[in-house]
Amino acid sequence: MAEYIDRDKAIETIQETVEPYVIVDPETTCIVGAGVKEADVIKVLNGLTAADVQEVRYGEWLEDEHKAEYCSKCGKHPYNDGEYYIAGWWSEFCPHCGVKMKG
Ligand SMILES: [Zn+2]
Repeated sequence: MAEYIDRDKAIETIQETVEPYVIVDPETTCIVGAGVKEADVIKVLNGLTAADVQEVRYGEWLEDEHKAEYCSKCGKHPYNDGEYYIAGWWSEFCPHCGVKMKG
């Protein structure tokens, strides 16, 4: 399962904890590059706590042979017992499985 981290917190932590290095040309002794070690960045990223988020799943309202709308993901109609609407086809989310309907 995917995990999500706070980008700003990751950048801030990398800037505060990862020591940069410079690349020096041995012949001219000039600095020709700089950077950070990949392993140091990975260590920082692995140390961050994953954010408590849930991935958004998408679906769409489709019509069956009776022209009744149903969810493309769970296959259920947007009403309960065929009588009481708990959400119509205009709903932004499926009331059964929670997918977000494509605009
Ligand atoms: Zn659904």
